[in-house]
Formats: sequence, structure tokens, C-alpha cells
Amino acid sequence: MLLIGSHVGMSGKEMFLGSVKEALSYHANTFMVYTGAPQNTRRKELSELKIPEAKALMKENGIEQFIVHAPYIINLANSVNPSTFELAVEFLEKEITRSAGMGSRILVLHPGSHVGEGTETGIRKITEGLNQILTADTPVSIALETMAGKGSEIGSRFEELAEIYEKTVHSEKLRVCIDTCHMHDAGYDVIHDFDGILTAFDKLLGISQIAAVHLNDSKNPQGARKDRHANLGDGCIGFEALSYVAHHPALTDIPKILETPYIPQAENPDKKVPPYKEEIARLRQEKP
Ligand code: FE
Ligand code: FE
Ligand code: ZN
Repeated sequence: MLLIGSHVGMSGKEMFLGSVKEALSYHANTFMVYTGAPQNTRRKELSELKIPEAKALMKENGIEQFIVHAPYIINLANSVNPSTFELAVEFLEKEITRSAGMGSRILVLHPGSHVGEGTETGIRKITEGLNQILTADTPVSIALETMAGKGSEIGSRFEELAEIYEKTVHSEKLRVCIDTCHMHDAGYDVIHDFDGILTAFDKLLGISQIAAVHLNDSKNPQGARKDRHANLGDGCIGFEALSYVAHHPALTDIPKILETPYIPQAENPDKKVPPYKEEIARLRQEKP
């Protein structure tokens, strides 16, 4: 069965329970959640998240796995501003505790941006951080996301992720989240040769390291390094290629997560609504 969901919110009174309800409203069987606003680091206590209620609702509906995404403002690769790096380390330590407390085994992380100091320096800083954070007892895995390569982003090449693995002492706690929009923007041929991508990935990191897939179309041509997500079939990758990824037999047990943009409502174009229920239904229907 296709393991598919989207990113969902976590806010208000219902918090994590609301996240599960949102996922169910899209008929998803997995989901990804930010533990608060993705653009800041303000977070509530675990006891305020309604975790037991959320877990009960998941169980009732057969949702067995979900993933957490760290906020994208944290940057472990920043070797210029010590406070940015320290904030990232501190926040990630707490985010690991939160993810485990909520019952996720995977925390997705953008490797970071080297802010002008070069890829090598950036990678060294990232692994310095990971080596402070990860121990043999860390209860979740950190899934490094493949990036589009905009600005000074690290992780647009699988080789860079492999180097992070090499320099991380507890690399058994690392995984990878592959993002179709990002790989396409980074220059990989998602449209015609996803199998070739998997082969390249397997050689460098091992296919078993893929812990999550972000399924997004891209507003830009292959290699554009822009990172602008499009709705499935509305972008340069196209529905067929994305459905091929979603249904790929090597990724059956891996959660596929939509991060496609909200769309203007037909009757009230000023209001934007999530496209996930429709996109999930279409993916289930139109298999390759
Ligand atoms: Fe991401
Ligand atoms: Fe993503
Ligand atoms: Zn993106």
C-alpha cells in the first residue's frame, strides 16, 4: 500500500492531536509535522502537545509512522556566527527529545548553508555539531535532506551527504530524506532517470539510508537551484515521473510526504486551501 501524506501544522489548543486530524482529513496514512512554526524556534512543552490523544487517534486509524521536520532557520553549517551554530545545536538536542516523546523515529534536517566559507568548511561545521549532538543512545535518527543548492546550501550532491556520514562518529544515527524538487533543481534527472539516481545514491550512501521522500513538483527546469515547489503535475517534473517515484518498489515502506503549495479556492481565489486530499487521491489512482 502506498505510504503517503503531507506536512501538517501543529498549533492552537489541539496541537499534535490537530496534526493527526489534519492528516486524516487528507486520507493520508503518514504525515510530517513541524513542532512549531518552521521559521522560528519557539516551542511548547511536550506535556502541552496532547500526545496520548494523538497517538490513540493514530492507532485507531492505522497510522504507524510519521516524521518530524526541524525548523529551516537553524544552520549547523554556520562557521561565521557562533551564536547561530550554538542555537542550532541546542535546538536540535531539544527537538530530538520532542520527536522521541511524540513517537517519531525520524527528524528531518536541512544540512545547512556555509554562508560564503565554502563547502568543506560548512561540512566540517555540520559534523562538529552532529558530533556534539549524537550519541550511541540518541533515540531518533537525523535524516539529512537533499537540497536544491540555492545560495550556499550544502547537500545538493549525494557526495556531500556521504562526506557528512564519513565525518560523523555516530553515523548510524544518520539517514537521508530525498526531495524530488530539490534533486531536480540540483541537476538530477528525476524526470527520465529516477532509477539512475537511486543507483548513484546506493553507491555513495546505500539505499537503506533513505528514510523519507519529499514528493514535490518544481516550478523551475532541471538544475535551476531555485527550490520553488509546485503542485504535482503543474511543474517541470510532471505527474508521471512523480507517481513513478511514489510507487517505486524500493521505497514501499518509506513515507512519501507532499510539501506542495496551497492553491487558491475556486469560489474565493483570495483564500488558499491545501491540495493534499486531491493529490493523495490522484497518486493512489494513477499508478505508473
Ligand atoms: Fe525540508
Ligand atoms: Fe523538502
Ligand atoms: Zn524545498
